Amino acid sequence: CFILAVETSCDETSAAVVKNGTEVLSNLIASQIETHRAFGGVVPEVASRKHVESITRMLEEAVREAGIPPESLSAIAVTEGPGLVGALLVGIMAAKSLAFALDKPLIGVHHIAGHIYANHLMEDILYPSMALVVSGGHTELVLMEREGCFKLLGHTRDDAVGEAYDKVARALGFPYPGGPYVDKLAGEAAEAEELPRAWLEPDSYDFSLSGLKSAVLNAVNQHRMRGKDGYQPAIARGFQESVIEVLVEKAVRAVRATGSRQLLLCGGVAANRGLRAALSERCVSEGISLLIPPLAYCTDNAAMIGAAAYLKWKSGEFSSLGLKAEPSLSLEGWSVQSDN
Ligand code: ATP
Ligand code: MG
Ligand code: FE
Repeated sequence: CFILAVETSCDETSAAVVKNGTEVLSNLIASQIETHRAFGGVVPEVASRKHVESITRMLEEAVREAGIPPESLSAIAVTEGPGLVGALLVGIMAAKSLAFALDKPLIGVHHIAGHIYANHLMEDILYPSMALVVSGGHTELVLMEREGCFKLLGHTRDDAVGEAYDKVARALGFPYPGGPYVDKLAGEAAEAEELPRAWLEPDSYDFSLSGLKSAVLNAVNQHRMRGKDGYQPAIARGFQESVIEVLVEKAVRAVRATGSRQLLLCGGVAANRGLRAALSERCVSEGISLLIPPLAYCTDNAAMIGAAAYLKWKSGEFSSLGLKAEPSLSLEGWSVQSDN
C-alpha cells in the first residue's frame, strides 16, 4: 500500500509517500517560518498563499523521490483538520484533484492522529497505549485501547504547551517560534527561577498553562523594573522545569491508571530536549516503554499523515470528494470504525 499524503494545516507545506503506514519513501517539507517571523506568529492569509505557491512542487517531488509511478499509488491522504481553515483548504483541494484525476480513494486525516502515529513510523505500537500530545495548539493525554481508537483523557484548559513556549520566548526577546530558544537557554542556565506548577484537581488529567505564563511575564517585568539583566536563563529554566514536571507526572499517572503498555510522546514540543530527557529517565525508572519520534517527525510533516491514513485504509474507510476542511475536527470522532 503506497499512500501519498499531504499536510497544510498550519505553516508547513508537506507531501510524503508512505508504504504500509510505516516506511517513509519521501517526505518533503516547505517551511514558511521565515515569512511569518516578521509578524511574530503565523498569519493565516499569508499561510494560505504560501501553501498555494509550494503545494504542486511538493507533490511532484514527493512522488518523484519515492520512485513509484503515480498510477501505483493506493490512496491520497490529506489533513482535514484541525488547523487554519484557509491553509487546510489548499491541501484538501490539491488532494481531491489528484484523487479524482488518478481515480484513487481519498482519505481525510486528523492532524493529531498524525502526530500520534508518527511514532508508528519507527516502531510497532503496543496497545493499550497512552499518547502525550504536546504541540503548538494541543496539550492532551489520549488513550488508545486499540489501534486507531482515540479517547481523550485530559486536555489543556487554556494555552497549549507550544503556545506557552512561544509566548515566554517572545517575552524573553526571542523570535517566533521561540520554543527551541527557551529549550536551549534552559539547558545552559545555572539556576532556576521559582515558578508555580498547575496541578489542578488531584485526579485531573487536564493541564493549565496560563497561570505559569502570567507568572513568567510578571517575573520578567520585575527584573526589568529593577534594571537587572541576565535574568533570562533562570526564567527559561524555571518555566521549563514547571512545564516538564507536570507533564511527566500526569503522563505517568495516566499510564498506570489505564494499564497502558506504552507511552507515546508526540507533537512539536516533543522536540524539547529537557522534556525528552526527563520523560526518558522517569520511564526507565518506572519500567514504562516510551516511544519518541525522531526530531524530523515531531513537528508538522506529511509522513505522519500517511502513517495515520493507513489505519483508515486498512478498515476501508474512505472520504468522499465532498471532504471539507474542519478547523475543529474531533479526534475521538475520527477513530476507526472496525477492528483491524
Ligand atoms: P497543532 O499540531 O496543535 O495543530 P502546530 O502544528 O502548530 O500545532 P507543531 O508544529 O506540532 O504545532 O509544533 C510547533 C510548536 O512546537 C511551536 O510552538 C514550537 O515553539 C514548539 N517547539 C518546537 N521545538 C521545541 C523545543 N525544542 N522546545 C519547546 N517547544 C518547541
Ligand atoms: Mg508548524
Ligand atoms: Fe502539528
